[in-house]
Amino acid sequence: MSSHRGVAVVTGGSRGIGAATALLLAQRGWDVCIGYHSAQDAAEAVARACEERGAKTAVVRCDVAVPDDIAALFAAADALGTVTALVNNAGIVYKSGTRLDEITPERLERMLAVNVVGAFLCAREAVRRMSSRYGGSGGAIVNVSSTAARLGGPGEYVDYAASKGAVDSMTVGLAREVAEEGIRVNAVRPGLIETEIHASGGDPDRVRRNAGRVPMKRGGRPEEVANAIVWLCSPEASYVTGALLDVSGGR
Ligand code: NAD
Repeated sequence: MSSHRGVAVVTGGSRGIGAATALLLAQRGWDVCIGYHSAQDAAEAVARACEERGAKTAVVRCDVAVPDDIAALFAAADALGTVTALVNNAGIVYKSGTRLDEITPERLERMLAVNVVGAFLCAREAVRRMSSRYGGSGGAIVNVSSTAARLGGPGEYVDYAASKGAVDSMTVGLAREVAEEGIRVNAVRPGLIETEIHASGGDPDRVRRNAGRVPMKRGGRPEEVANAIVWLCSPEASYVTGALLDVSGGR
């Protein structure tokens, strides 16, 4: 079955929340353009699984901190069809040192380049394709933020929290800016989700250690976040824009 919902672009789609989202988008009728940072084999495996669900796919190496990579990602999406959804999923946390006085300017710059500037530039590409101002027929942008944007505390990575706070602000502001142009812009704010991000941030035990602080007493699964993202992309969310939706087990 070919898509009836157009093309969805997913950044950081080789694993975790991004991979789960790509698969569900494919299942729900989108063709999927998957951006990956380094794991080409994993991204291609996600694409094959999307194809088994009836989607056309493209797989593109895209470091969202590199504007030329973003241009290539969207060029590949255009070759698939009309872009109707963007999931700004790519994001990083950093190994070691969660306190402000341990954070170097270089680390802060990289964090903001990936988590904030990358999301801005991808959103700009999406708006240029979706907006009625440019002859587009609308679409949805979903930014993957974090409950960290509003939950401080020891071990909560203040640079990461600040980056996600910026994502929240962009979501609300852009939603208002493009509301009349047929584009909805929302964010999901995952809580503690069982993905590799914790190990890559140097803290593989993070979910297990903190699960007791979650009212539901467990970490979330990537698929539980994907459900919320894909709903926000879909026509069922037609009157939802500027929303920041916690997917956090009540945390
Ligand atoms: P993950 O580490 O499995 O996925 C992150 C993805 O982003 C990976 O595919 C990675 O390769 C990619 N990526 C990293 N740097 C990139 C770059 N420069 N350009 C493009 N892609 C890049 O972790 P995840 O938990 O699936 O994270 C997905 C999103 O969810 C992130 O934005 C993260 O901040 C957010 N989030 C995760 C949690 C959690 O507990 N897992 C909680 C809140 C928010």
